[in-house]
Amino acid sequence: MTASNSLATTRQLIEFIDASPTPWHAVARMRQHLTAQNYTELYEAQSWQLHPNTGYFVVREEASLIAFCTGGEMTNTQFRIIGAHTDSPGLRVKTSGAQENGGYLRLNCEVYGGPILATFTDRDLALAGRILVRDGSAQGFSSKLYDSKKALVRLPNLPIHLNRSVNDDGLRMQKHKDLNLLLGSLHEPLSANDSFNQWLCETTAVKRKNLLGFELLPYDIQPGAFFGAHDEFIAVRQLDNLASCHAAIAALLSATDSTATQVIALFDHEEVGSASYTGAGGSFLQDVLQRILYAFNDEQDALAKTMARSWLASADMAHAWHPSHSDCYDGLHHLKVNQGLALKINSSQRYATNAIGEALFMQVAEKANVPVQKYVHRADLSCGSTIGPVCATRLGIRTLDIGVPMWAMHSARESCGAHDQAYYLNWMRAFLSPEQ
Ligand SMILES: [Zn+2]
Repeated sequence: MTASNSLATTRQLIEFIDASPTPWHAVARMRQHLTAQNYTELYEAQSWQLHPNTGYFVVREEASLIAFCTGGEMTNTQFRIIGAHTDSPGLRVKTSGAQENGGYLRLNCEVYGGPILATFTDRDLALAGRILVRDGSAQGFSSKLYDSKKALVRLPNLPIHLNRSVNDDGLRMQKHKDLNLLLGSLHEPLSANDSFNQWLCETTAVKRKNLLGFELLPYDIQPGAFFGAHDEFIAVRQLDNLASCHAAIAALLSATDSTATQVIALFDHEEVGSASYTGAGGSFLQDVLQRILYAFNDEQDALAKTMARSWLASADMAHAWHPSHSDCYDGLHHLKVNQGLALKINSSQRYATNAIGEALFMQVAEKANVPVQKYVHRADLSCGSTIGPVCATRLGIRTLDIGVPMWAMHSARESCGAHDQAYYLNWMRAFLSPEQ
């Protein structure tokens, strides 16, 4: 792939992230994309009739999505699964979090996952999420996506004159007290929550009596951008882990037909441990895999036999070496941006890769002509984790953990190399078609 081709992939990534401030928006956009490529949506509450070499997808609660293309020979197929997550760490507005302080209307938030809180201060923050609205459907309510698409709320810092030690001690934020998004001035005689709910209904064209609930989060409104002397880097929010979702769906839609059943499984709730209805620790992926096989084969041991032939690549971002903090890394196993896709290894199984997974990683990389690097965390620092070990445990499937190196993971604005997204896509595409 030429440099200009690889940058085209990165531009598409930025465009995808700019349009996907929440897991619900990301899934809605991928649903549109799959439908446009003739993938058929299946519903968990209905029976499925499937055909070989055909694309389908299933969405669970708007936040998690599994898409697959069945193999050419379904009685003897294997699964090639790419797993990733749709959620990103940040803040979530509390359900009755609006409050009045000295005439200001502010929204109190919970922390979601492990964001670098200081990076959310003094930033132009928009608000996005989903609103549950009473309607005439059988269920009685439906969900409506909302995105302010403009700077709406803010977490202003104290001036340095009132916080003299901020540069020596770092910005300390008390999670219960300091996470109040400034939304406006409050003039009406309404309570803060009534005032906020009324504003939300007016903004979203929903009748006040029909508002049943919401999930809202603030996000950095600044669009993604290339930077560097030769535009060799990019900065954008939510690289962790929308970069992996973007590569996975692009790989699925461009992979060649295979005897393998090609699957991408994109879960919510990784940042809070994956144990949920829509998370990787739940039943979603196993349910879908079982139903795919059952559509072609009613042998009781079909799932166990197929799983024994299958592989899952857990795709999540990796920590790039930081030139001002080289002592934070294992000098033998650090990653550089723009120098290839990373395999993540941890003997305590915080990453699921073992030597067999390493061999497969190398074989696929050679086939796809993708440069590679290998990451091991410093032995005296605790290692993060991702959905790889969760899926390996839940499903009994051979699993490896891969990712693109990035800086400032969990910042409101993250950064990485401009050329690595193409490596990610090419490796995944080759992984999905094992016989090519
Ligand atoms: Zn992640």
